[in-house]
Amino acid sequence: MTRRWLFADQLGPHYLPDPEQSVLLIESSEVFRRRRFHRQKAHLVLSAIRHRAAELGDRVQLLQVGTYAEALDQVEGPLEVVQPTSHAADRFVRERGLAVLPDLGFVTSRTEFAQWAAGRAGKRLLLEDFYRWQRRRLEVLMDGDEPVGGKWNFDHDNREPPPKTEQLGLSAPWWPVEDDIDSQVREDLDRWERDGLATFVGVDGPRWSAVTHSEAQQSLSRFVELRLAAFGPQEDAMLANDPWMAHSALSPAQNLGLLHPLELVAAAEQAYREGRAPIASVEGYIRQIVGWREYVWSLYWYLPPDYRTRNTLAAHEPLPEWMWNLDAEAVNAHCLSSILKDLRTRGWLHHIPRLMVLGNYALQRGWDPVEVTRWFQQSFVDGYDWVMLANVVGMSQHADGGLMATKPYAAGGAYINRMSNYCKPCVYKPTVRVGPEACPFTAGYWNFLDRNAEQLASNHRMGQSLAGLGRLADREQTVEQERLRGNDPP
Ligand code: SF4
Repeated sequence: MTRRWLFADQLGPHYLPDPEQSVLLIESSEVFRRRRFHRQKAHLVLSAIRHRAAELGDRVQLLQVGTYAEALDQVEGPLEVVQPTSHAADRFVRERGLAVLPDLGFVTSRTEFAQWAAGRAGKRLLLEDFYRWQRRRLEVLMDGDEPVGGKWNFDHDNREPPPKTEQLGLSAPWWPVEDDIDSQVREDLDRWERDGLATFVGVDGPRWSAVTHSEAQQSLSRFVELRLAAFGPQEDAMLANDPWMAHSALSPAQNLGLLHPLELVAAAEQAYREGRAPIASVEGYIRQIVGWREYVWSLYWYLPPDYRTRNTLAAHEPLPEWMWNLDAEAVNAHCLSSILKDLRTRGWLHHIPRLMVLGNYALQRGWDPVEVTRWFQQSFVDGYDWVMLANVVGMSQHADGGLMATKPYAAGGAYINRMSNYCKPCVYKPTVRVGPEACPFTAGYWNFLDRNAEQLASNHRMGQSLAGLGRLADREQTVEQERLRGNDPP
């Protein structure tokens, strides 16, 4: 039987349905030499590959090499691969003439998405429409033809600010216990750094994410039993001392391919059907899995190759060193500093600090979307090309001219103040635009509008904001102040 080469993000059992098939796993160090990833990302990937190799025993050959090409030169006999998850890997396997099987890790095939998109008859490819189509065809959270709970969307219930407490007070997520494989990975990464073979950003472990299917199942079970019920209401809220809030934190395991999306969906739906979690929380969670995640995956393959370099807002500022280095101490803005520190500690943040603090700041400062995409991919343990491309270029940086989001996700300090507890101890004030206490997000928001006023003028959803800009008495001072701040840490 043809041997199956499994990539490092195809490590769950659903990528290997035949219990007899032999397997090739390749641990390539080159990728960590070329780019400076978060140390915990490197740890997770190597640990997951080695744990999978240990599970498969005699069936697997694990090659530890520099590049994929070096590995394939050592391999004899025919090989097949499951559809790789990046354009680069896809090109590589096709150039090498390998048999490429259809994807096994997502629920939406390219053909299905293309058919859905074709049926839109020129209308925008809206997430909400895609998500409803997914729910219907996959029969998820449906009662016959009707959505469970009588509504498709519970966003209205799921936008609450945080409580006045320091933490949500939920049971902690599931944590793994590191083993000998993790120790060996840590030694190898230390050696690579010592020998100048790789440099990383962020602090090392302890490993907090699953690296095997079994660990991922334990993590999922704990989330569903103890945390899912609380997921919805505050899914957009932030608390400085509660980085996990009620989020599942399963994205690294999901993006290593350890769980099939329908495993997560079935577990969440069952919790609702058995009365263990309310519909708003379950719907909000399932929307992330069969809605947003599948949408971003499908767009990755559907959008044209030039999507990667789109830059409609002509944002050409370089990403500053303090961001590349996750240098939280250089930053005075309490929200940004805390969030950079959390990122440095764990390589993970939930979607709102990503979108409304980090992405928002990059958008306001006009940082180059290609660099911003690369930064997100390297700095997050769940960052992969397919995840970050549409999320950053389209959703976060509005560099695609509004293909994905009808208006830029730019917001001032008032939003952050409403949805978090960051502002109270901050040296800046979210309501102040000019002077030493001027919030860099608030002033940055007006500066962003000023810089892009012409480009955004035709967007009717920006009309009110642009009118506000026109009425700003201190517009010139605000813009000049932010021009001087430039790329300095705020
Ligand atoms: Fe962030 Fe501005 Fe609030 Fe400070 S005042 S925490 S900079 S939003």
